[in-house]
Amino acid sequence: MKNIPSVDLSGQYLSIAAELEAAVKEVLASGRYIGGPLVSEFEAQFAAYLGATECVACNSGTDALYLALRALQIGPSDEVITTPFTFIATAEAISAVGATPVFVDIDPQTFNLDLEQLSGAVTGQTRAIIPVHLFGQPVDMTRLMAIANSHGLAVIEDCAQATGGEWAGQKLGTIGLVGCFSFYPTKNLAACGDAGAVITRDRAIASTVWQLRDHGRRQGYEHEHTGINSRLDAIQAAILKIKLKYLDTWNEQRRQIASRYHLLLQTLPDIIRPQEYEGGLTVWNQYTIRVTSQAKNSPISQRDWVRSQLRQHGVSTMVYYPLPLHLQPVYKHLGYQPGQLPVAEQACREVLSLPMFPELDSQQQAIMVDRLLDLYCEGSLCP
Ligand SMILES: *Cc1c(COP(=O)(O)O)cnc(C)c1O
Repeated sequence: MKNIPSVDLSGQYLSIAAELEAAVKEVLASGRYIGGPLVSEFEAQFAAYLGATECVACNSGTDALYLALRALQIGPSDEVITTPFTFIATAEAISAVGATPVFVDIDPQTFNLDLEQLSGAVTGQTRAIIPVHLFGQPVDMTRLMAIANSHGLAVIEDCAQATGGEWAGQKLGTIGLVGCFSFYPTKNLAACGDAGAVITRDRAIASTVWQLRDHGRRQGYEHEHTGINSRLDAIQAAILKIKLKYLDTWNEQRRQIASRYHLLLQTLPDIIRPQEYEGGLTVWNQYTIRVTSQAKNSPISQRDWVRSQLRQHGVSTMVYYPLPLHLQPVYKHLGYQPGQLPVAEQACREVLSLPMFPELDSQQQAIMVDRLLDLYCEGSLCP
């Protein structure tokens, strides 16, 4: 059997290669490489897709978060509540503006912020909450917005892994005050390089982000803020414009792959499958299971054993994420202790993200799960 990668970006490229190459050639010939009409067109189309009014494209999802925080004037002595179970960029952006990330434990079922614990983390310094729709699974935004509003906090949605996902019929990123998107190559809507966007319904925020992404420039060489260089390349905008047309189809393919996994994996012992929760549309940037049992007399965890066995059988998997943010070396000074956010810490020991990309075919999937079943039976873990 052919090896199965955890993600394969070449299939998607090949399926629309002619279209992409023609668009890139056009940009090359145009001599206009940064910003310009293609970027504005993509911004307008992405805003329309989401049902949003304002979109400002930028250079990455990380910059989108940073620019959003800057536009909200969040900085030193401010606290921002977020999840410890996410990619570092979420908290890094908070630190980059000089504010302090405050980590709240996660819900074991969704891997997202535990909304029960949110209010308890609010202090006089709290300015905002950054929920992350992790792995494409939406946070319950109805409840989150009610909590945020009751404390007068801004909500910045980290939609890096959830482009096209919905909560209560609304696109993620349009429910909070600001939505931040990444178009990193492995995300649901992917550039062929780094790219991101900020979405908001607030014109003033959009206009500040618009200035900040280009050296705080108001016009010409008149600079109103200390900004950064986070402009989007025209080549990436041209590629994103094309790929946006296919996003819903690709997300639907991810949903089909997830439901196939759900069926195939149901007989496996000690594996908890992710589930789509009522009220949301999950877009499965990752399909992440939990391997719960502890291997007997083994120095490695059952999850690590399953992972290495799958690797030996040609199946690549990923661990998103092996270390929660509150225990990262970079956040040592915040003083969190092991055991303090136990659900996130347990998730880090148990999660395993299976291959997930729209082009993954069902046969490969079935073979892969057979492998898993064999492994479990060899290891006499079968029921
Ligand atoms: C990818 C990612 C980011 C950062 O996006 P980049 O475009 O890589 O900078 C932020 N948050 C989450 C949850 C992500 O997965």
